[in-house]
Amino acid sequence: SCKSLGGNRVQVYNDTIRQSSLELLRLEQDLRKAIDNNEIQVHFQPKLDLNTGKITAAEALARWHHADEGFISPGIFIPLAERTGLIETLGSNVLEQSCRQAASWYHQGIQIQVAVNIAAQQLDSGSLVKQVDELLNKYELPAKMLELELTESTLMEDAEAAIVEMHSLRNRGVTLAIDDFGTGYSSLSYLQRFPLDILKIDRSFLMTDQGNRSQGTLTRAIIALGHGLNMRVVAEGVEDPQQLTELKQLGCDFAQGFVISRPVPAEEFTQLLDKQY
Ligand code: C2E
Ligand code: MG
Ligand code: MG
Ligand code: MG
Repeated sequence: SCKSLGGNRVQVYNDTIRQSSLELLRLEQDLRKAIDNNEIQVHFQPKLDLNTGKITAAEALARWHHADEGFISPGIFIPLAERTGLIETLGSNVLEQSCRQAASWYHQGIQIQVAVNIAAQQLDSGSLVKQVDELLNKYELPAKMLELELTESTLMEDAEAAIVEMHSLRNRGVTLAIDDFGTGYSSLSYLQRFPLDILKIDRSFLMTDQGNRSQGTLTRAIIALGHGLNMRVVAEGVEDPQQLTELKQLGCDFAQGFVISRPVPAEEFTQLLDKQY
């Protein structure tokens, strides 16, 4: 009958919920183990200087290869880490690997500025500046070789506190970027007050084809805004050569995306560099 069908539906629905929260719980336990066992790896995606056509920087991106499930997207495990408090350990792990790699390149005479994504909880833990100091010291890495990427929403969560932390970092010579610009809640008056060096245009603003004029208008406007506030502008998610040409014409400073390279392990990144010189 209809009634029993309804009942079954509810049952199925509840099972689905139960199963998915059980899966999440399992995933959380596995993530905790993976962090403890240093199984979170870092890949590097090049950023191309559009003026010189050279790779001068890289974004560090966390990678988790789960023994049974295979590759798990950061789009899944980063939010999970943020919800469960694991992000601080994961984040400092990624920061350490990134500084170690940046230093290794630097001491081989390869100047690649490495950008690390920083979550809101890392920024307001109060220990980020201390950790950065320790890592720069430990690996003898000049501060200018380190960049930190902060999303709009991270910055707006507690803007006044963020400004204080950012000044400490910037006084040391660390480069600061606003990530995924245009997707969050952006207060233009705050944008002016944040001590930022780099603006990363979110890939949703990139022109997908020549005919898409409104996207072009937005990209142009965001580049002008960034330059007007003395920032250099990076376009992220650049997938085709046409976009590269257009971004260069618009005066965008850097490009990052699959058209240049996917994020790759450090050794592969070094090979990319060998090829270009
Ligand atoms: P994000 O910081 O904006 O990083 C850029 C994302 O765009 C990366 O996704 C990268 O692989 C992807 N991407 C780059 N070029 C292209 C392209 O041409 N086309 C397309 N479709 N995608 C492109 P990924 O590695 O999956 O990371 C997703 C997000 O997870 C990152 O976005 C960042 O918010 C977060 N994340 C990754 N690693 C970390 C980390 O170590 N710490 C923190 N807090 N967040 C991280
Ligand atoms: Mg980023
Ligand atoms: Mg981004
Ligand atoms: Mg993003």
